[in-house]
Amino acid sequence: MNKLRPDIRSLSKLQIEDFFSLNNKPKFRANQVYEWLWKHRVLDFNLMTSLSIDDRLLLDSTFSINSLTLHDYKSSLDGTVKFLFQLNQNKVVEGVLIPHRNRYTACISSQAGCSLACTFCATGKLKLYKNLSAGEIYDQVFLINEFSLRKFNKPITNIVYMGMGEPFLNSTNVLNSISHITSKQGLNISAKRITVSTAGIVKIIKRIADLNPKFNLAISLHSANDKVRTKIMEINKSNSLKDLAIAIDYFYHKTKIKPTYEYILLNGINDSIQDAKDLIDFCKKTPSKVNLIEYNQVANIPYQKSSKRSTKIFMDLLEKNKILVKFRRSRGEDIGAACGQLATQNKK
Ligand code: SF4
Repeated sequence: MNKLRPDIRSLSKLQIEDFFSLNNKPKFRANQVYEWLWKHRVLDFNLMTSLSIDDRLLLDSTFSINSLTLHDYKSSLDGTVKFLFQLNQNKVVEGVLIPHRNRYTACISSQAGCSLACTFCATGKLKLYKNLSAGEIYDQVFLINEFSLRKFNKPITNIVYMGMGEPFLNSTNVLNSISHITSKQGLNISAKRITVSTAGIVKIIKRIADLNPKFNLAISLHSANDKVRTKIMEINKSNSLKDLAIAIDYFYHKTKIKPTYEYILLNGINDSIQDAKDLIDFCKKTPSKVNLIEYNQVANIPYQKSSKRSTKIFMDLLEKNKILVKFRRSRGEDIGAACGQLATQNKK
């Protein structure tokens, strides 16, 4: 990373326009530069061939372009691909491509490590190393999309912010990355195809609702009982279910977007009939959907997936109570790419 020159990808298009104005250059140059940076992901000013040589030199002497690179990848027997992306200083973050029927979903990271330490999650065992920049988040999507085009001849269809980290503890960079992904001069992917998943940072859910976002919101709920939830998700101590429900309802009424509750079924922890009833009550507060997720074994974490029988009873009870529910089977478990398994932080 060049510490002396600012990263041009941390600037908005307006800020790039201001830069050109200050240097007595036409503002439309900013459009050209923006497209080179985001649509084409050109990381060398000298390759921006629609700019004059003078302009390229000016940019090169003023800015740097920081990026993340693809270091390695592994493919699962079920087609899922796990990527290792390299940051500076030997650190890596992980992303995943999940091909399933007509969907090609990119699961990306928003932080290197995580500060929240949910007890069922491998990333939670790592310390937070840093918030990823908007460019580093965007690069994961861009590189996974390129891979998908090469390997499957299909572009990615969906993006989920469900990799390493808590997106709403890096909300400015996450929102900026979404604006580049959705921009016609970026990847031009509809916000409706993007889902941001949070462990439930109440204050930020409300703040983002006020911005009237178009992307989908998922809540890592995993229990609708304060006692149980606090045991498995420390964040519940400071962001209780009562406050979370109020924030979610606020989000729904501002945006008309139904939140999805992610619920990993853990044997003997959150999969009883009473747990299902608590979840039903919680769901009835705001129009919503539920994804029941099969737990993926993580080394040194003592939880186990729920039995087939408990899963069926739990799901049937939700359906009987008219809750929109889907069951998500584990994918990419054999390569450590499944939900809750992402944990590499240092380059191997
Ligand atoms: S589930 Fe999400 S918020 Fe919780 S520790 Fe894992 S990455 Fe962090």
